[in-house]
Amino acid sequence: MPVLLFDIDGTLVRTGGAGKAAMEAGLRAAFGVAGVRDGVPYSGRTDEAIARDLLAAHDLDPSPAHVGRLQDAYLERLPSALNDRPGEVCPGVAGLLPVLSARPDVVLGLLTGNVRAGARVKLRHFGLWDYFSCGGFGDGRHDRDDVARAAVADVRRHLGRDVDPSDIWVIGDTPLDVKCARAVGAKAVAVATGWHPCDELTACGPDLFLDDLSDHAPLLAAWG
Ligand SMILES: [Mg+2]
Repeated sequence: MPVLLFDIDGTLVRTGGAGKAAMEAGLRAAFGVAGVRDGVPYSGRTDEAIARDLLAAHDLDPSPAHVGRLQDAYLERLPSALNDRPGEVCPGVAGLLPVLSARPDVVLGLLTGNVRAGARVKLRHFGLWDYFSCGGFGDGRHDRDDVARAAVADVRRHLGRDVDPSDIWVIGDTPLDVKCARAVGAKAVAVATGWHPCDELTACGPDLFLDDLSDHAPLLAAWG
């Protein structure tokens, strides 16, 4: 039984920068930051890690209380940020998910650095949330590898039994997605619909590399 764990940003959807805009607007509103400094990387990282780095980059204590306050301010602004931008579902995703969800032998889950509430807002915005029955999220987790461990634990809870890691596939658009798949012994599909160039992704040695998810044949072949 293949267990498919999808990343969100750059893999299922592209929000046109709504997540980053909401986080920065939250930083300005909750902490009175006038000008947001650039330089904090977002790609493939957890919301927790991004929030801590943003706070530190603006000389604010990255304490759990401050991270919580920033995340609350972010979540408050995320729906309008999504509405303000021309986001899109990544190529092939809208056709692939119904095919997979119709198969009783496939488990569809998420493996994302987004906090759960943010993941729900983003995927509901694009009408994709209800496809997924389990997953790992960025809440309180700095390292994406820990998100992968949480996702596997949630798959086991969902199924009520153990799962062979070699049946688990992580689908993502960054080197960190491939890395976290390896951390739990899972297979990895790298897809170049995010910001990372093809050669950077293939250098990570994914089991499957695709320009996007529009050609379902190699995926369905890999997933039995
Ligand atoms: Mg991503």
